[in-house]
Amino acid sequence: MILDNLIRKNVKNMSAYSSARDEFNADKQNYLFLDANENPFDSDYNRYPDPYQNALKDAISKIKQIPKQNIVLGNGSDEVLDLIFRAFCEPKEDEIITMPPTYGMYDVLANLNDIKTVQVPLKEGFQIDVQGVLSAITDKTKLIFICSPNNPSGNLLQINDVKNILGHFSGLVVIDEAYIDFATSSSFISELNDFPNLIITQTFSKALAHAGIRVGMCFASERIIAVLNKIKPPYNINQLSQTKALEVIQNFDTYIFQVQIIKSERELVANELKKVSWIQHVFPSESNFLLCRVDNANLRYGQLLEKKIVVRNRTNQPLCENCLRFTVGTPEQNQTLLNTIKDLNS
Ligand SMILES: *Cc1c(COP(=O)(O)O)cnc(C)c1O
Repeated sequence: MILDNLIRKNVKNMSAYSSARDEFNADKQNYLFLDANENPFDSDYNRYPDPYQNALKDAISKIKQIPKQNIVLGNGSDEVLDLIFRAFCEPKEDEIITMPPTYGMYDVLANLNDIKTVQVPLKEGFQIDVQGVLSAITDKTKLIFICSPNNPSGNLLQINDVKNILGHFSGLVVIDEAYIDFATSSSFISELNDFPNLIITQTFSKALAHAGIRVGMCFASERIIAVLNKIKPPYNINQLSQTKALEVIQNFDTYIFQVQIIKSERELVANELKKVSWIQHVFPSESNFLLCRVDNANLRYGQLLEKKIVVRNRTNQPLCENCLRFTVGTPEQNQTLLNTIKDLNS
């Protein structure tokens, strides 16, 4: 893979915006900062935030065992994904490959950036059609998106299939690990040294319980990270979110504990759902949700809604006919769900 050939021409040629805090880092003590036209009176938030989120990245670097230079942060992983499109895909020319059923944002971002999506559906069992993917690659293919554990199916994609694609594609492979903390297998972060074309995204929105602060993480080679840093909005993670995210990392044990509960609840709920007459199949899950095939998804979705329980109806997604997706809740919430489900007529 030659990274230089993958970067968009305008991105290669442009120079990054140089913010006041780029030129002089706010860490510097005993300096009088009169460079950024801020209000000088202290409100805790009168200063622009660190554009490179150094304190937060130091903390993330420790728990993820990866140097800071391999991390870029975004306003949710959705922003990270958008940055990847804008850095590497030439509008109206380039293509990406996705594997439906999967996360809807890849398609939306491709459309927004005027990039053609080539869809290679997962096989039965929601695993990668490796031959299909490899033969769908053209000289226009810049990105392949792999979501593992996959949303909405919940399963991990086979590691050998993922490595096979990484090894046979000279563009970039994005592995979306939004749900990796709920899985039995560990992150692809440890593979970054072996695959220079690998980009991994994770998020504060799921296991880390902070969807509201919008912080997404991206791990890749230093050179890829440098390209993303060049084009990202300078202050894309606001001070409130940086402070809160740092607090989250400092309380990491709390979330590890919650993930344990969610995982054991997932097994409990799955077992109970399997006993329900109108639920035909509960797909195995390595995430914090369960995909179920039911007798009539639209009917059951409506019945649950009448009982004020909102689930996700995925019946229109490929391979997901009559499927509902249930997020695993607290033990109490799950009991409410199960009681309600058992009360619905068969
Ligand atoms: C929820 C989810 C995300 C998270 O996106 P954020 O913008 O970080 O909240 C990313 N990818 C997948 C597959 C998801 O389901």
